[in-house]
Amino acid sequence: MTEHAVLIVGAGPVGLMLAGELALAGVDVAIVERRANQDLAGSRAGGLHSRTIEVLDQRGIADRFLSQGQKAQVAGFAGVRLDISDFPMRHNYGLGLWQNHIERILAGWVAELAVPIYYGREVTGFAQDETGVDVELSAGQRLRVEYLVGCDGGRSVIRKAAGIEFPGWDPTTSSLIAQVEMAEEPELGIHHNAFGIHSFGKLDYEIRDGQVVYKDGGPVGVMVTEEHVGHAGEPTLRDLREALIAVCGTDYGVHSPIWISRFTDMSRQAAAYRDRRILLAGDAAHVHAPDGGQGLNIGVQDAVNLGWKLAQVVNRTSPESLLDTYHAERHPVAARVLRNTMALTALRRPDERTKAVGEVIAELLGMEEPCKRFAAMQSGLDVHYDVGEGHSLLGRRMPDLELVTASGPLRVFSLLHDARPVLLNLGEPGGLDIAPWADRVQLIDAEYRGVWELPAIGEVAAPVAVLIRPDGYVAWTGDQTQVGLADALTTWFGPPTAE
Ligand SMILES: Cc1cc2nc3c(=O)[nH]c(=O)nc-3n(C[C@H](O)[C@H](O)[C@H](O)COP(=O)(O)OP(=O)(O)OC[C@H]3O[C@@H](n4cnc5c(N)ncnc54)[C@H](O)[C@@H]3O)c2cc1C
Repeated sequence: MTEHAVLIVGAGPVGLMLAGELALAGVDVAIVERRANQDLAGSRAGGLHSRTIEVLDQRGIADRFLSQGQKAQVAGFAGVRLDISDFPMRHNYGLGLWQNHIERILAGWVAELAVPIYYGREVTGFAQDETGVDVELSAGQRLRVEYLVGCDGGRSVIRKAAGIEFPGWDPTTSSLIAQVEMAEEPELGIHHNAFGIHSFGKLDYEIRDGQVVYKDGGPVGVMVTEEHVGHAGEPTLRDLREALIAVCGTDYGVHSPIWISRFTDMSRQAAAYRDRRILLAGDAAHVHAPDGGQGLNIGVQDAVNLGWKLAQVVNRTSPESLLDTYHAERHPVAARVLRNTMALTALRRPDERTKAVGEVIAELLGMEEPCKRFAAMQSGLDVHYDVGEGHSLLGRRMPDLELVTASGPLRVFSLLHDARPVLLNLGEPGGLDIAPWADRVQLIDAEYRGVWELPAIGEVAAPVAVLIRPDGYVAWTGDQTQVGLADALTTWFGPPTAE
């Protein structure tokens, strides 16, 4: 193993996404992964929310996922389905696709970008100094890198070794999740009783008319709430039997587990996403209950926020301070997810008063405005970074408009495939001059005659020019002038190149 500019620890969805982002920007990046290969024990995440599909579309790879999953309305809160099919956008739905497939497709993309993944090796520690990081691997190997990114999951060795605090809340509930054979067939679906929620399903399913229809045969996927929190160690078949009997009165003759795992509602978040040359992303930076299916999604979006910034710092086009915007922008997003998952787990409690709270929230979500707001929140479509005051588009996702250019029709997202910033000039062709940034920023003259509409916000005024970051967020908008453009270009893409 040789030296690299950036080493990512962990080839989970977040490490893979980040590797792709860095490779697109020409950074020498590698991944170290403890697992022997990309195989994943357990099903974990069940799919993607709308904004994650968009960020994949921005890189030209959304179709790889869409062709293998099932489009569905996946957002929901307090038992209310939050339908986004009337949102003004191309991917106004989520996608049912198990995490092992998501990882396999991402790993394929990363392989095309020629990122080395060192499987079967573990990072055990590191020491950072002014110019780089010495990384220790299992079996006594060492390597020197400029930056080290911990995408190594909730128990992150990198976070612990960096001494980064992980404040939050201990679990109040714990559940077993498993794939097993059962002598008796349980009633498939989600069930509520006095002990809480439990569910039975199959790995293979189809979505017909918005309903999950399981395929016949095959092992059963089971999720069951445990009577007590705080079990230590790996869960066993005996634990599963006992939990099923306690909740369902029978263990359905459970046998031959393929895997058994446990999740809780522990909610914690790294106090800092960066300590000098060490960065954290994904579960390494935030853990919470799986309710709402948001963890993988916000992790992938951490990667898309960090990738281009780290690339610019490594490529010496931006100062290191750009990396501080990563924490500033992404920490609040996960903090909100912690808050909404804590609310969702509280609503899982089976007592009558909690049920009443759930019913009141469901009633509120029956109203159009709250429903849209919550749907946009859970789908990741309402992210609003602080890039300054002004136009409503500032700091928000750029819509995937159908443009007309001198060389034909073009979608905005197709301009982001290489993860390079774009200055879109919708005014007088040739009316903008960004020569000192021309090596970094694409300047596109185009026409757009339609309305500008944002999910859950509605119509916004049409700008004459828009500066779009590689992650698809708007950094500057122009009217008839270039006021503020040079500042925005310098802030986000580095100082001007001398003529
Ligand atoms: C039951 C359950 C259901 C879920 N459902 C959803 C859902 O529907 N939607 C959703 O968005 N999220 C869901 N999640 C959350 C989702 O699985 C995680 O958020 C996601 O896997 C985080 O990705 P990651 O890459 O940050 O970390 P991980 O997927 O945990 O990957 C970390 C990687 O780092 C490796 N690693 C760890 N330590 C080291 C080391 N020292 N050296 C080398 N390699 C190391 C690990 O082997 C692993 O491959 C669910 C989670 C659970 C448990």
